[in-house]
Amino acid sequence: MPIQQTIRRAVSVAGTGYWTGRPVRVEFLPAPAGTGLTFVRIDAASPVRIPVTVAHRVDATARTNLAAAGVQVQMVEHALSALAGLGIDCCVIRIDAEEMPGLDGSSRAFVDALDEAGIERLGAPVEPLVVAETCRVGDETSWVEASPPRFAGLSVEYELDYGAGPIGRQTLAIRVGPESYRTELAAARTFISLEEAGRLRSAGLALGVTFDELLVFDDRGPVGNTLRWPDECVRHKVLDLVGDLTLVGRPVHAHVRACRSGHRLNAALASRLVATSGRRASA
Ligand SMILES: [Zn+2]
Repeated sequence: MPIQQTIRRAVSVAGTGYWTGRPVRVEFLPAPAGTGLTFVRIDAASPVRIPVTVAHRVDATARTNLAAAGVQVQMVEHALSALAGLGIDCCVIRIDAEEMPGLDGSSRAFVDALDEAGIERLGAPVEPLVVAETCRVGDETSWVEASPPRFAGLSVEYELDYGAGPIGRQTLAIRVGPESYRTELAAARTFISLEEAGRLRSAGLALGVTFDELLVFDDRGPVGNTLRWPDECVRHKVLDLVGDLTLVGRPVHAHVRACRSGHRLNAALASRLVATSGRRASA
């Protein structure tokens, strides 16, 4: 039976928030069994604990934000993806600003830090949410669904379709585990179109982000940058999905299929899974 895991010692990652442009330092700390993943905003007058659950999610454009007691932590998905990808169940994430560091747009720096900390096994079994019947959210064009697992863990099939253009249609099927996460997903960077970048800038957002720090696509390809994989975009979408599924509060054992799904739909699936598992548990 798999045992809950945390990290062996504290490690930190520093950078700048993509949206706010503010410098930030994040510290990952070991946590006891049964406590899950929790952010702590240490810059508040008294530290605010923000557990990683669907109930603490707040709706935001193109990222996943959490809040408790009116205090937010923004763009949590890449760090959460790294934790889930490496199989870390319990961790306290202390942060001294409102937004996680954007770094290179991937989760690689988080993975490197967590690997440096090392894994510690805790004295309690993992209680995964095992999907018993197919659960689907979305509409005809954008959707995500979770079906019963094909093995004791998470597998993902993702399709993105940006129509004609350099991103085009990309698909990826992957069995998510620490090794595949490190080698196939962690370094995949977030991406936006040149138009989106312009809109963000004119709204006063992402001002500190340059094109070599973020994959920006024009109609020919990435601007001033080279791809790490030809299908880097779909890999990043899977990275995001793995991060968003941590909102369930425990590992999800399922086969997840997604088509043009983003943070909002991913979170809707997480909510539905939590609600369904609650009904089953009390049935
Ligand atoms: Zn992302």
